[in-house]
Amino acid sequence: MNHFEHRGGVLHAEDVPLPLIAEQIGTPVYVYSKATLVRHARVFKEALSNLKDPHIAFAVKANPNLAVLKVLQREGFGADVVSGGEMDRALAADIAPHHIVFSGVGKTHSELVQGLAADIGQFNLESEEEGYELSVIAAQLGQRARCALRVNPDVDARTHAKISTGKAENKFGVPIDRAGEIYAALAGLPGIEMRGIAVHIGSQLSSLEPLETAFSKVGSLIAELRAQGQSVTHVDLGGGLGVPYRTDEILPSPAEYGAMVTRVTRDWDVSLSFEPGRVIAGNAGILLTRVIRLKRSSNASPFVVVDAAMNDLARPAMYGAWHDIDAVEPSGMRQCAHVVGPICETGDTFAMNREMDALKAGDLAIFRTAGAYGATMASSYNSRGFVPEVLVDGDRFAVVADRLPAADIMAAERVPDWL
Ligand SMILES: *Cc1c(COP(=O)(O)O)cnc(C)c1O
Repeated sequence: MNHFEHRGGVLHAEDVPLPLIAEQIGTPVYVYSKATLVRHARVFKEALSNLKDPHIAFAVKANPNLAVLKVLQREGFGADVVSGGEMDRALAADIAPHHIVFSGVGKTHSELVQGLAADIGQFNLESEEEGYELSVIAAQLGQRARCALRVNPDVDARTHAKISTGKAENKFGVPIDRAGEIYAALAGLPGIEMRGIAVHIGSQLSSLEPLETAFSKVGSLIAELRAQGQSVTHVDLGGGLGVPYRTDEILPSPAEYGAMVTRVTRDWDVSLSFEPGRVIAGNAGILLTRVIRLKRSSNASPFVVVDAAMNDLARPAMYGAWHDIDAVEPSGMRQCAHVVGPICETGDTFAMNREMDALKAGDLAIFRTAGAYGATMASSYNSRGFVPEVLVDGDRFAVVADRLPAADIMAAERVPDWL
């Protein structure tokens, strides 16, 4: 469910007609719907309402825009961060430090110090080595860092290989069959307090089964750790729930996910936390683009060349991902077309032989489900600037990230005087 719908033949974001945003802000532009974000946050909370005091930390990497984080902070969400930069954003959005959890295999020395200085809620340790390093730093600062050990359950999430994180060959977490031994070693260190387990097996999961398998393995690990005399009070079940990128796609609902979690974790007696990203933000955003021109191709389908490109929305080029494409003011005519951006790479292709609304030069169109892993993955490739972001709330809207022109990026470069 989202708030990007046609009204009187014109696509709106909530009560704002998209042509108005295109005219005032220009294209391409990301547009987010506050009502959709809030709705997704509440549906997710509701899905977990049978659990005792669950902690929900939004995966900031999905959409790190400050205004988006602020909306979720108001809904009581914490933040799952994977860099010092994301931690700064979470804090800037007034997310309480104890609601911040820090994941990632490559936390640097200075990022560990930064997390300790901010007194964040939890470090999810991704290796034994990281635990030793954090303990030394924390002990020097006279602190004890609250930690969970991220385990790699060796479960196939059955998603795209590049966003699968829970197979033995993936870089994330420690092998679950060594977790007991590593947990015990880390629990003996002076600078850290081992309080639990974290697991996250991948993103855009289309079935609950791999999650349930992973969670069951975590359940056995908790029992094993407790039998060894270890204390386990917190478990972080990560994110990963998929969203429909095609209108006809059926994915497990947050309610089904919540019911599964409630069932599997019934006897755990821990406080549970969650790190949803895509399921909260994905359908709450679109990328608004304008058709530059139509170009005949060697087969029947024309190329629809739009002003958005792979640098603005990387998912199709990176993962072969599908985004529904709709005309903002559909004529009722349909066409079969290839939709491409202006970048000089064949990878800059959003759709091939797509049955879709007919578009002509100057028309506006949207890429749906671009609220997660959209703007945040942008680059300036081909010396294109960064796309602005707009947040809509009812009949008002605001620019929540300025367009960063290519000239500003060039202005940060220097030619040394010895050239
Ligand atoms: C990316 C990530 C998430 C969020 O994944 P979604 O599929 O967007 O829900 C959660 N936790 C960790 C550790 C991640 O790396």
